[in-house]
Amino acid sequence: MQSVGFIGWRGMVGSVLIDRMRRENDFQGFEPVFFTTSQAGQAGPDVGGGASPLRDANDVRALAEMDILVSCQGGDYTKEMHPKLRAAGWRGYWIDAASALRMKEDAVIVLDPVNRKQIEQALNKGLRDFVGGNCTVSLMLMGMQGLFDAGLVEWVSSMTYQSASGAGAKNMKELVAQMGGLADAGRALAEDPASQVLELDRIISAKLNDGSLPTDAFGAPLAANLIPWIDSAMEDGRTREEWKGMVETNKILGTATPIPVDGQCVRVGAMRCHSQALTVKLTRDVPLAEVEALIAGANDWVKLVPNEKAATLAGLTPAAVSGGLDIPVGRLRKMALGGEYLTAFTVGDQLLWGAAEPVRRMLLIVLGRL
Ligand code: NAP
Repeated sequence: MQSVGFIGWRGMVGSVLIDRMRRENDFQGFEPVFFTTSQAGQAGPDVGGGASPLRDANDVRALAEMDILVSCQGGDYTKEMHPKLRAAGWRGYWIDAASALRMKEDAVIVLDPVNRKQIEQALNKGLRDFVGGNCTVSLMLMGMQGLFDAGLVEWVSSMTYQSASGAGAKNMKELVAQMGGLADAGRALAEDPASQVLELDRIISAKLNDGSLPTDAFGAPLAANLIPWIDSAMEDGRTREEWKGMVETNKILGTATPIPVDGQCVRVGAMRCHSQALTVKLTRDVPLAEVEALIAGANDWVKLVPNEKAATLAGLTPAAVSGGLDIPVGRLRKMALGGEYLTAFTVGDQLLWGAAEPVRRMLLIVLGRL
């Protein structure tokens, strides 16, 4: 029986992964072993066969006993441990949610509904490093797969609205604490029907700017605000998150000539789920009905939302999508710029299709179960 080691299983992505695997009854036919960087010896999760003590995720020899390792621990961990394991001669499969290895030549970015062929080719060639893609890239590709597959995309501009949970557990807590601080400051005036709204605005603005809200994780208030910067700066003015859009899209699609993808990545006060407003330059002027049919038919998870207010409010918001695998695509129309310019809005759960689900499915592929 193959052994599968899980590292980072109690973080945001890892706990969503374990939850999905439990629900889908995936913990069978292999021996799961749980590792930790901080709690070795404590009881691990019980996924059906009783809880075993956690093993040390910094112990190369313990890791090397595994046939497959699944890491949701983060890029620093991958950068430290993956080279050590390979240097020690470990030939197992490394399946990772972090970005550290994504652009390595012998690593494959996995999003199997979109690039199953590349995954199979890589497995046949004996490649052993498989990495989930950047969350907004994977969600954009799941939504727009029909247009990419049909060769209809000349370029894409993606303007993102990314949730607090994309930055990790601490950031989610900080957002709620900020919301609480604002609510406390404004409650009396907000609840008094006779109060002056400009006074409420003044109090909230003052609270946002007086330095009293917790901002250690985000560096600025996110509640009642937004932050048009995600990740570190690149030399050309893009952020690293924006840079990933083009390089990862083209690596996943295996394009011979890169398709330009660019835009601005913005953190907003949504708890979970990343949204994107897309501008797509089509390679030719295709009727909207054809575009809709291509998008809707591309995979089992994409769902077309009619370009109507009621349907949009009901199905095209982070709150509506959170915790589910659907990728709704709506607000779809040709732009005033011309018949080759399409706009769309899409939302997806960045912890599911944006992180845990491609990793989970890659594990099942390696185990020969998908
Ligand atoms: P995270 O929530 O910060 O968890 C990472 C690790 O932190 C855990 O495995 C755990 O390791 C440790 N940890 C320390 N205190 C903890 C606590 N109180 N609760 C839970 N864990 C705690 O990181 P993440 O957001 O899951 O991200 C993991 C990787 O996936 C990163 O490379 C990230 O870039 C990538 N990713 C994240 C998202 C997302 O939406 N968050 C999306 C796509 C990709 P020990 O048990 O070993 O201590």
